[in-house]
Amino acid sequence: MLVLGVESSCDETGLALYDTERGLLAHALHSQIAMHQEYGGVVPELASRDHIRRAIPLLQQTLADAQVQAADIDAIAYTQGPGLAGALLVGASVACGLGLALDKPVLGIHHLEGHLLSPLLASKPPRFPFIALLVSGGHTQLMRVDGVGRYELLGETLDDAAGEAFDKSAKLLGLGYPGGPAISRLAEFGDPAAYQLPRPMLHSKNLDFSFSGLKTAVLTVVKQHSANICEQDKANIARGFVDAIVDVLVAKCMTALKQTNLKRLVIAGGVGANAQLRAALNAAAAKRRYEVFYPELQFCTDNGAMIAFAGAMRLREEPGAARKEYGFGVRPRWPLDELRPPQAALPA
Ligand code: ATP
Ligand code: MG
Ligand code: FE
Repeated sequence: MLVLGVESSCDETGLALYDTERGLLAHALHSQIAMHQEYGGVVPELASRDHIRRAIPLLQQTLADAQVQAADIDAIAYTQGPGLAGALLVGASVACGLGLALDKPVLGIHHLEGHLLSPLLASKPPRFPFIALLVSGGHTQLMRVDGVGRYELLGETLDDAAGEAFDKSAKLLGLGYPGGPAISRLAEFGDPAAYQLPRPMLHSKNLDFSFSGLKTAVLTVVKQHSANICEQDKANIARGFVDAIVDVLVAKCMTALKQTNLKRLVIAGGVGANAQLRAALNAAAAKRRYEVFYPELQFCTDNGAMIAFAGAMRLREEPGAARKEYGFGVRPRWPLDELRPPQAALPA
């Protein structure tokens, strides 16, 4: 079965073709980062308009790269939410318009399910069940994953998401948007002993997170330096920030594995691309004989491949999940725990 995936929840337009027999055939992505950079963040109206400009050329590129015709597509999976309403509407209308024109069924996918299942696209995929740490620009959640659509929320952030903390702290240091990769690179030159920033909720028994205090701590030290902050100061602060956030993320993952008695940990979402986080998780897991799985770097942040793949995973278990119903609706807010497993997977 050949599934087309369409992603447009925020500032990336992603198209991909996943075949249940042959795997990922092709994918194409356009990131709007450069366009939003001068505003210091995503401008929703500009995002929607750019998705409109990019979607069809990316579709054509994906079909050409995969060497298939549009008529070969069996089903179309698109991100139905959560995300920016206008941006989601573009992807949904492209998917449903194409479905109507080609007489193919469509299926709305939860964006976070796409992130969550993206490590399964890797050459060495994890088996269910596992603990998943979803660390993206809008979410920070620990989940127990027993299969497609079988997600139990164990803990989440009470305020900022990890990616948001990276971006806001980077902004305070005068780094561009999105600041995650930039603050991470700068931290490599920092002195780990220079700043001990708070590690919020590190010792709390539960699996929730809180990162807004850490961002405030960054603001406080930046202010202490006022205008004469030098590059080394910035690097030291970046290092203090990265060490603090990585410590908390690693500790909570280890607690989740211990509490559930599971041995496999899966990381998903943009912050999963972070080199310091990966190094610290690998070290902590090796010590305890846990296995850690990551998406390929290119599939950590938003992309169409994870949406095509999530669609294919669902359709493999429940072929009727895609329908020839094209009156699309999007869900800008959509709690992941409202998802159900594919029907055929339910016990009889
Ligand atoms: P959501 O999926 O929750 O709706 P999103 O789609 O905006 O949010 P992603 O695309 O998964 O989030 O990830 C983007 C985030 O990942 C940004 O906050 C970015 O700064 C962060 N990020 C990307 N690469 C890195 C890195 N190397 N180190 C730290 N953070 C990173
Ligand atoms: Mg993005
Ligand atoms: Fe995302």
